[in-house]
Amino acid sequence: MMPADSTTKSAYESFLKAACDRLGYSETIASLLALAAMEIKVEIPIIRDNGELAIFTGYRVQHQNARGPCKGGLRYHPQVDLDEVRGLASLMTMKTALVNIPLGGGKGGITCDPRSLSARELETLTRKFVKRIHREIGPNSDIMAPDVGTNARVMGWIHSEYSAIYGHSPAAVTGKPIALGGSAGRETATGDGIAIVTREYARHRNIRLDGATAAIQGFGNVGINTALAYRKLGIKVIAISDSRGAVYREDGIDIEALAKRKRERGTIADAEGHETISAGELLETKCDFLVPAALGNAVTGDNADRISAGAIIEGANGPLTRQADEILAARGIDVVPDILANAGGVIVSYFEWVQNLQREVWPEERIEKELARILGKAAGEVFSHARDKKLDYRSAAFDIAVARVKEALDATGF
Ligand code: NAD
Repeated sequence: MMPADSTTKSAYESFLKAACDRLGYSETIASLLALAAMEIKVEIPIIRDNGELAIFTGYRVQHQNARGPCKGGLRYHPQVDLDEVRGLASLMTMKTALVNIPLGGGKGGITCDPRSLSARELETLTRKFVKRIHREIGPNSDIMAPDVGTNARVMGWIHSEYSAIYGHSPAAVTGKPIALGGSAGRETATGDGIAIVTREYARHRNIRLDGATAAIQGFGNVGINTALAYRKLGIKVIAISDSRGAVYREDGIDIEALAKRKRERGTIADAEGHETISAGELLETKCDFLVPAALGNAVTGDNADRISAGAIIEGANGPLTRQADEILAARGIDVVPDILANAGGVIVSYFEWVQNLQREVWPEERIEKELARILGKAAGEVFSHARDKKLDYRSAAFDIAVARVKEALDATGF
């Protein structure tokens, strides 16, 4: 595979610098926001089920906390490295600022292949990671959540390990099982949010959703829930991929049936009744909305000129390289940026944190209503700012987010 033309971190830095230039901020501010406040790297030895010792590396990067405690996911994947975690942490600072919730940005990860670890090994790894970093995380400093390769069960282990040290502390981590103080709507929040933002985008651009088509890369938490939420909007999902294969069905994919297959066999590859397509063809599917919902750098300078979607809605974090962004802009293909499109997850995580701190349990209707209100407002601000200043949506989103973080830094007396 060719190396991508930018990393999540270098792409972030160039979007940040461009925003600081437009806003007239000094280079010092751009440099400060390019850096993380704290970076933690730990080695985590565990005894494997076969009795052998294995050592894993874990990271937690706290990028910015001027607007509130750091907030961001924990990723388990073989490609996790410090540079990637740094880039993802900084995107979280921009995301929480853009949707205007009182949190900062952080991200973590352990370099491992969770599919090759047993449940016991995963639990041991997770608990040991918490033992290593517990002094630096918590409800008022840094709150983790699920990301690629982690889920509610992993968050439950984090909650349990942290609470064993500090006493019952549900607000220390979000995306927990409901039984441990998790929030209604958190599991589906990112996909639900992508649908809300897509609806707002369609309204802004006068696109009819009923009968529109979509292709989705990635069929995990974000991909599945986006597909389900798109169906409610009348959008027909015609192509879906996971790490092992991609399928196409012109009449629309039966999402529940494919999700069942994924649960049972671990992949959607070769699903009956569907045409098998390549990973590249999935990205090049002719459709109204392409939703990359897997890993970073899916669309690069190498394939951006073959994208045939009307618009890209960024479900994943950092799915486009800088060059891809430029090529798509030149081709007039709209990109709705990650820090807006996938912010539903962190918004409902914020609701979970608030509920835990206040010992409250909100009904699902309240979550749905508040999520739509906060995301709808943020989307409206991005689309209006882009129109008024003649900017693409990512630039507009960065302008709003960077200005909010700068305002908080100024207010701290910095
Ligand atoms: P997940 O682990 O639940 O699912 C990831 C999916 O991507 C899996 O189906 C996997 O098979 C697939 N995949 C991996 N490599 C692929 C490839 N090369 N081609 C096609 N599919 C591939 O992860 P998730 O939680 O759904 O996260 C997906 C993306 O969304 C990540 O970028 C994550 O940072 C972002 N995100 C997640 C959340 C959340 O709440 N979980 C919130 C915001 C953003």
